[in-house]
Amino acid sequence: MTLPEAAEELVRLGTGFHNRGWMLGTSGNLSAVVSRDPLRLAITASSIDKGRMNPRQILEIDNNGKVLQGAEGRPSAETLLHLEVVRSMGASAVMHTHSVWTTVLSDYYHADSGFSIEGYEMLKGLDGVQTHEHREWIPILENSQDMAALASQVRALLAERPKTHGLLVRRHGMYTWGKDLATAARHVEILEFLMEAVGRRRMMEPT
Ligand SMILES: [Zn+2]
Repeated sequence: MTLPEAAEELVRLGTGFHNRGWMLGTSGNLSAVVSRDPLRLAITASSIDKGRMNPRQILEIDNNGKVLQGAEGRPSAETLLHLEVVRSMGASAVMHTHSVWTTVLSDYYHADSGFSIEGYEMLKGLDGVQTHEHREWIPILENSQDMAALASQVRALLAERPKTHGLLVRRHGMYTWGKDLATAARHVEILEFLMEAVGRRRMMEPT
């Protein structure tokens, strides 16, 4: 995938996620691997309005997060987490959203360091999952502005749980990824659906 191809697709996805309420304002960021060796990522620039994205705001960065190409802006501090997930999981795309439901659940289940989702048919939309009986653990990390520290926590977590499809950062949002851009984008839709279903179902329980 070339930078212009990745840029067009990331703008299309980001605009769609914005319209669904998963990347409001300048929140969230999306990336796709455009070269594996040497590692190069196409990634949304920092602080861009996700409702008004254009391909000039997609930057090409190297494995240290340094900008190689791109017309507008600088990389987000969260770029470090994208690079970590690409390295740890061999992912080809990483999606970071800030939806209401992922934010709420990341706070609600924080004391347990995560929560599991099981029994839902939509789980079969996750790569490698064949049955609704699958039990998906959603890990939660404490939020931090120290991205290097958060990236090392992500590395340790994914080494311990290599079958993870997505993780939450407390009161912040979700990271998910995939073996290609289409899979990563599908994981956003599937996990956002599941989190909303879990959250709404939880609200029906007596307090
Ligand atoms: Zn964020």
